[in-house]
Amino acid sequence: MPELPEVETMRLQLKKYLTGHKITSVEVNNRKTFQGDEKKILDTKILDTRRFGKVSVIDLANGYSIITHVKLTGQFIYRGPNLVKPRELSSKVTGGIPGPHTLVIFNLDRGGVLYYNDVRRFGWIKIEKTGEVESEPFIKKLGPEPFKGLTLDLFREILSKTSRSIKVVLMDQEKMGGVGNIYANDALWLSKINPKTPAKNLKNEEARILFDAILKVLEEGLKYGGASELAFVTPDGTEGNYQNHTLVYGHEGEPCDRCHKTVIKKVFLGGRGTYFCPFCQKE
Ligand SMILES: [Zn+2]
Repeated sequence: MPELPEVETMRLQLKKYLTGHKITSVEVNNRKTFQGDEKKILDTKILDTRRFGKVSVIDLANGYSIITHVKLTGQFIYRGPNLVKPRELSSKVTGGIPGPHTLVIFNLDRGGVLYYNDVRRFGWIKIEKTGEVESEPFIKKLGPEPFKGLTLDLFREILSKTSRSIKVVLMDQEKMGGVGNIYANDALWLSKINPKTPAKNLKNEEARILFDAILKVLEEGLKYGGASELAFVTPDGTEGNYQNHTLVYGHEGEPCDRCHKTVIKKVFLGGRGTYFCPFCQKE
């Protein structure tokens, strides 16, 4: 599932392509995906985009907003005057645009089009008054985010209150927003912390190292436009590149990049693939 760097990359491109434009019509091919009255978002200027954890918000001049969570396989793809020579569409855009997996089409002024494709159909788009966005249950229960509200002190406090494994806590969106499986694996490897360690057993210094590592891997993710290992594509129709720069995620069976003596192991923790070096990240 897209994490903070992927959703932030998506948000920044949507901002670039959509701001100042108007939606002139909406074609909804799957009602479950699109909740609310599409007439509320027509013929009003797109002002800005925001992100809350893995949720993106597009704010409109008339006091309404479009809230969206792409979940596992949702893809927003823009074509139009703000992308003069689009690069070849990623092969991850299954069925093309528009295609059998295009569930919503936003037609924009000046010939722009924003497609929403979603093979698994878990993603959603919802129309809400801008003033009520932050009261949405999904957004309200999000924990503080790295780069936005999550301080080292707060991070230590969150860890001190639970004996669940540190990796599961990092990925718990109600404890902290935006960190998912890829970046949790990489941050723990970078910090030499075993993913199974009970969160409250981390010493102050270990928590500091881990906090810095989380910021570092998220920054790397942002630098590469996110990771496109499954279905993630950017609104320009291309892919992020962090999947080629992961530290430990996906490296099962390969020698550890730090100690060069031990092979990376994969186990399942909280149902998710967990990669670590048994030498550098001792239990
Ligand atoms: Zn190692």
